[in-house]
Amino acid sequence: MSSTPYKRVLLKLSGEVLMGSQPFGIDPEFVAEMAKEVKAAKDTGLEICLVIGGGNIFRGMAGAAKGMDRAQADYMGMLATVMNALAMQNALEQLGVPTRVQSAIEMDKVCEPVIRRRAERHLEKGRVVIFAAGVGAPYFTTDSGAALRAAEMKCDALLKGTSVDGVYDSDPKTNPDAVRYSSVDYDTVLADNLKVMDASAVALCRDNAIPIVVFSIREQGNLAAVLAGEGTKTIVQKGA
Ligand code: UDP
Repeated sequence: MSSTPYKRVLLKLSGEVLMGSQPFGIDPEFVAEMAKEVKAAKDTGLEICLVIGGGNIFRGMAGAAKGMDRAQADYMGMLATVMNALAMQNALEQLGVPTRVQSAIEMDKVCEPVIRRRAERHLEKGRVVIFAAGVGAPYFTTDSGAALRAAEMKCDALLKGTSVDGVYDSDPKTNPDAVRYSSVDYDTVLADNLKVMDASAVALCRDNAIPIVVFSIREQGNLAAVLAGEGTKTIVQKGA
């Protein structure tokens, strides 16, 4: 039985957490560590949807800053998320966790297209579903993709696993007095431009009453702790 208040969650991992100590790319050992965290969470009885970013390989904005056409660069970024999804699928299945990848850009040789009803069935059967290629359109990010899939899959929460342990009132890297919120309202995040997720992702979660739980995935066992209502985190929700 799950000891968490959630039955189904969407876990968003930024691409950077797959690169380990490398400057870019995929470190299979680190992906295996992440997969262990996901398996531990799944073993508590949760249904898990996953969205993985692509920032460890390519970000459209970075390409555009160097003169590329933004949309073209964004499509490259979306393809990067598919590579990460396949790496995570491989790592999860090596741990015995059945996993399906559904991509918003169809690539039938390597994964399924996004089909909500089929994803439902996978979850019912105890499979992890990884949604790749974000929303399938340029000018978006995988945060928006995560919010969209969390809404359509009726997830109880969107868990955002990053390198920082929550949401601060200012940047903790530059301000030693920065204070971490334990809970904060969606509207405060938007009005104060707090670095949580893109505004479109936050607004979609607000409009569908999906709490966003921001926590550090880099600490071993932290995902399970957060799911059990413990661990260091910030919850973005209504009325906080
Ligand atoms: N991307 C996009 N549309 C989407 C999702 C992603 O164009 O719906 C592109 C965009 O260029 C983005 C890149 O894919 O920079 C990688 O995703 P993201 O930056 O969200 O990855 P993360 O920062 O989470 O690793």
